[in-house]
Amino acid sequence: MSQMSDRADRPPAHAAAERADCCVVGGGPAGAVLALLLARQGLAVTLLEAHGDFDRDFRGDALQPAALDLLGQLGLADRLLAVALARMPAFPVRTPSETVPQHDVSRLKTPYPFMTIVPQVRFLDLVVGEARRCPAFRLVMGARVEALVQDDDGRVRGVRYRARDGRHEVRTQLVVGADGRFSRLRGLAGLEPVRTASPVDILWFRLPREATDPAGGAYLGDGGWVALQDRGAQWQLGYSLAKGGYARLRAEGVEALRRSVALRVPWLGGRTDALRDWRQTSLLAVEACRLRRWYRPGLLLIGDAAHTMSPVGAVGISVALQDAAVAANVLGPRLRAGDVRVADLAAVQRRREWPVRLVQAYQGLVQGWMLSTRRGATAGRVPLGFRILARLPFLGDLGARVFGLGVWPVRLSPSPTPAPPPTPAPAAHSPLPARG
Ligand SMILES: Cc1cc2nc3c(=O)[nH]c(=O)nc-3n(C[C@H](O)[C@H](O)[C@H](O)COP(=O)(O)OP(=O)(O)OC[C@H]3O[C@@H](n4cnc5c(N)ncnc54)[C@H](O)[C@@H]3O)c2cc1C
Repeated sequence: MSQMSDRADRPPAHAAAERADCCVVGGGPAGAVLALLLARQGLAVTLLEAHGDFDRDFRGDALQPAALDLLGQLGLADRLLAVALARMPAFPVRTPSETVPQHDVSRLKTPYPFMTIVPQVRFLDLVVGEARRCPAFRLVMGARVEALVQDDDGRVRGVRYRARDGRHEVRTQLVVGADGRFSRLRGLAGLEPVRTASPVDILWFRLPREATDPAGGAYLGDGGWVALQDRGAQWQLGYSLAKGGYARLRAEGVEALRRSVALRVPWLGGRTDALRDWRQTSLLAVEACRLRRWYRPGLLLIGDAAHTMSPVGAVGISVALQDAAVAANVLGPRLRAGDVRVADLAAVQRRREWPVRLVQAYQGLVQGWMLSTRRGATAGRVPLGFRILARLPFLGDLGARVFGLGVWPVRLSPSPTPAPPPTPAPAAHSPLPARG
């Protein structure tokens, strides 16, 4: 029997079914924030996360103003900023010979006009810690969902998952798949994404950072770019390489990578010997994709599971959080009424699909500009697209808005039940100076 044909009328012999108003699969940014929002509305929420903890290296750490804005609305922004490693009001584009200001979010109308770097583990610990204060919230770590529970007419009624202590089943009004770019639920539900090929992959690694270093940004040269994110004592580098070029780069040896980094970011050249082993690196196969339909009866997909974002612009988390906020606004009241309809799921997609598609289209445009640096007589100069954005403030602000706010901000509906008061921020918080 295939997993797709696990019917609701055949409960597993191995365990009694658990019950929840909503079962969220995936404890990444989208799933954790949605679970918190629904739990604060007094709903019984089960959050299932496949890993045993939230500690992952080389995951999204840069938060755009839109993400901070939502966390501010949740009363969590101060506590998040207290553990931030850096703030950046802009992300300039540079070549070894020139710098063009770019994506200056400091001019946006938002309470948090800067990007910030927060290790994802701190972010998720904070959100989940807050959700734990809601009595009907349940988190199961190490819980890998393997099957959907469905009626004969295909309506999703729950999920089956494997945990350390065996196999379990959750029955629920609504399953939300927030299980990321390789979404298992997407496959189980038979939802096929439309994929956009990317000409590049990204290799992530870290190098030492010194207080006197120039600001982060996108450094163009040697046929690609390096995105430099400030992590306090370290730089996190996102090094672009031609799609599928990783095997060749490895065959050439770490020394070839060090040389290339020094060509793209000359002032870092003296520190590249800190990179000794490929195990210090992490390869991201870049792709952008989106579902035509984000739902089936009883099931909604959000975040990367519904639309994997390219890393350009560091927008994946803020877009995922906005999905979660809209889903909570639309579906919270329906879940409380015990009446979630397909039209409600369609309403979530309708509100989110166009902002997501616009951001993806803009990411494609910016990526094209970044790659154009290697061509023809303009090699070595900041590409024309970035120059135009820098020269025309209206267009520059539009670009900053698309990345910084995700096209437009999302407001949370007021919570129908009093949320527990947020835990105060640590007293010793001293705001970080803005850099860049
Ligand atoms: C290397 C890298 C760097 C990035 N940098 C940035 C950045 O700086 N800024 C930014 O905004 N974005 C960045 N992104 C993108 C960003 O991380 C994602 O867009 C964002 O995390 C999407 O959130 P999500 O909750 O939808 O999915 P994810 O964060 O992928 O979370 C999905 C969760 O589901 C869990 N899961 C998967 N399968 C199952 C299952 N079967 N059962 C239960 N749980 C399951 C996973 O363990 C995971 O915890 C980066 C991505 C990568 C890979």
